[in-house]
Amino acid sequence: MRLPWGRGGDYYSLTISIFTMKKLFSFLLLFCAVQLAAQTKDPKDTEVWEPEPRVVTPGTMGSPPSDAIVLFDGKNFDEWITVGKDAKPGWKLEGGAMTVVKGTGDIATKRSFGDCQLHVEFRTAAVVEGEGQGRSNSGVFLQSRYEVQVLDNYKNRTYSNGQAGSIYKQSIPLVNACRPPGEWQTYDIFYTAPRFNADSIRVAAGRVTVVHNGVVIQHHVEIQGTSEYIGLPKNIAHGNAPIVLQDHSNPVSYRNIWIREL
Ligand code: MG
Repeated sequence: MRLPWGRGGDYYSLTISIFTMKKLFSFLLLFCAVQLAAQTKDPKDTEVWEPEPRVVTPGTMGSPPSDAIVLFDGKNFDEWITVGKDAKPGWKLEGGAMTVVKGTGDIATKRSFGDCQLHVEFRTAAVVEGEGQGRSNSGVFLQSRYEVQVLDNYKNRTYSNGQAGSIYKQSIPLVNACRPPGEWQTYDIFYTAPRFNADSIRVAAGRVTVVHNGVVIQHHVEIQGTSEYIGLPKNIAHGNAPIVLQDHSNPVSYRNIWIREL
């Protein structure tokens, strides 16, 4: 057929063959059929069965899950060593807990860890002494470098990025979930270690989530680098490293510490 195509009084003709239109129509029909076939109506098509997560028996109140490495069960220092010395911790072991003895030094796990889930129970001193950073100060250092602050901030003000549950001097906890002095408290820490390339350049920052007494206080926050009292965080390449508990001269106690490598 011929179509008029007006422009300035001239006529251009456009011929569309019926044969070509038929071919186009067939192609469209085929295309729609393929699209419909791709949209499955069977819910089983989107079920994934392999691999199957292995079975882990959750701990009952206060006990570790079946696949955890128990770092401290209140009985001995078998998994711990004094930092910088090839010696048993000088901390006091009593009543199923270990308590910092001023001046005996930080203690570290004998084993090294990277990505992990870490459970720690701690108790700040029942007899309140000091204020600010001086009240039941200790700390849980991930990979010996990145401190989750332990401090008695129950009605005790200090700088926000240094209070209990802070990533020390880097990340302020979302809330203050401290229990009163002398009560047992929990940290559940979910940690992704930083990644370094073959040239020792950090290519991915570490990340951490901290749950304090059942309350999320750090939510997948980026770790800027090492915890420094003075100056900026550093990023020097490292591999797996021990968990360290800090002797900050205050009698903080720990019990029921376990870890799951991720
Ligand atoms: Mg500390």
